[in-house]
Amino acid sequence: MKNLHTLSVQGALTALQRRQVSSLELTQAYLERIQRLEANLHAFITPTPDLALSQAQAADDKRVCLRKSGQPYPPLLGLPLAVKDVLCVQGVRTTCGSKILENFTPPFHATCVRRLLDAGVVVLGKTNTDEFAMGSSTENSAYGVTHNPWDLERVPGGSSGGSAAAVAAQLAPAALGTDTGGSVRQPASFCGVTGIKPTYGRVSRYGLIAYGSSLDSVGVLAHSAQDAEIILRLMAGFDELDATSHDEPLGTPGCSQIKDVRGLRIGVPQEYFIEGIQPEVEDRVRRAIQVFADMGAEIVEISLPHTSYALPVYYLIAPAEASANLARYDGVRFGLRAESHDLNQMFCQTRGRGFGAEVKRRIMLGTYALSAGYYDAYYGQAQKVRTLIKQDFDRVFQQVDAVAAPVAPSTAFKIGGHTDDPLAMYLEDVFSLPANLAGVPGLAFPVGFDDQHLPVGMQLMGKPFSESLLFRLAHAFQQATDWHLQRPPLD
Ligand code: GLN
Repeated sequence: MKNLHTLSVQGALTALQRRQVSSLELTQAYLERIQRLEANLHAFITPTPDLALSQAQAADDKRVCLRKSGQPYPPLLGLPLAVKDVLCVQGVRTTCGSKILENFTPPFHATCVRRLLDAGVVVLGKTNTDEFAMGSSTENSAYGVTHNPWDLERVPGGSSGGSAAAVAAQLAPAALGTDTGGSVRQPASFCGVTGIKPTYGRVSRYGLIAYGSSLDSVGVLAHSAQDAEIILRLMAGFDELDATSHDEPLGTPGCSQIKDVRGLRIGVPQEYFIEGIQPEVEDRVRRAIQVFADMGAEIVEISLPHTSYALPVYYLIAPAEASANLARYDGVRFGLRAESHDLNQMFCQTRGRGFGAEVKRRIMLGTYALSAGYYDAYYGQAQKVRTLIKQDFDRVFQQVDAVAAPVAPSTAFKIGGHTDDPLAMYLEDVFSLPANLAGVPGLAFPVGFDDQHLPVGMQLMGKPFSESLLFRLAHAFQQATDWHLQRPPLD
């Protein structure tokens, strides 16, 4: 077979199953491509070619053994996958994009990683991320920025920018990302790929290095809704190591492949089409909504009145949780340690040297919001408004099956475009944060290009645990259009 890197997840699995290709061949094809294109893209912090080759060989051997004994194959046997560098892979350096974890090698797998390894995946490497997943551009990584495959002078989005760029550039057929306030959906949108942020609790957070624990969710980036679903299905479900995880069924396999969307109700919230949004983004999203209407879905104007509060609420709650979560990096337990005879000095110097500017900013913001005199005024108040945001969603989901909206107000911006202005960077998240605050799933997928040929994405948000329905809607759209089949001009 030729051009192995162009295979979809589904296509690769079929080819592996029919023994038209071996896992070793497939893995080598991606590793060669990584070697050739990484210098321009920098999608990975740590590629793992040796691990990948040995896992691929083991997968091929296993296939032979199982075939001989007539046993079924694990569902993803031999499929290469990239993993965001905030998820622990046993024995592989896991940095979280931070100097403070420069030499941290976890002695265990994240549950989602372990489940996918059990299903047979091959790990190509750990992808770049904003430090501790704090950012919208991957510029906050201590290991350098990732470049957008559609325009190397632009950011890939963030914080899962490495995963999105890797998938867009076909350095991997799919990648894991995490989404605390948009970090799967926004880079998916900037890089022209499909990304699912599942319902909070759908995937175990065990082994995901914590940022905002009440918001963090592990998701998938791939080229289609169908491909993303295949992977999500195998990592979802209750895990006794994460008390917030759930066992809610994802629907029978294939039910999301129904192309018929007639009679489904899609809500279009007025609050997501506001002044300041790039006109082409609004236009492409509205056209995509029209595609759903043409396929027989019913389009309903709705209102999510507390949307504008999501940004200040998130930028209190997420830093507050982060300030608590990041207290553990003190030079005693893991990662970097600045040597000093004085314990306090050691703490201060370790954290001073190990954390980057954005992480320090958020620790200070979060510590302030949680401090005795201000807790009620900031953190407590933010939690109350968060409930109102969630109630907005509860109410509209009595009326509609899904909510359609842009993912971000603009397409990919230039590297360095927002670095001096944290608030401008935070504004990038205005449409993605509400889903995390409400805990609902969001699926982003490409719906066109702007005038500079940069991808535009839209998102569908749904009731908790309604991922299947979102996949079904996006699958129908992807059968009717070919935006998801477009690839950046890299070769
Ligand atoms: N951009 C948001 C932030 O900086 C969201 C990041 C994320 O989802 N991890 O916090």
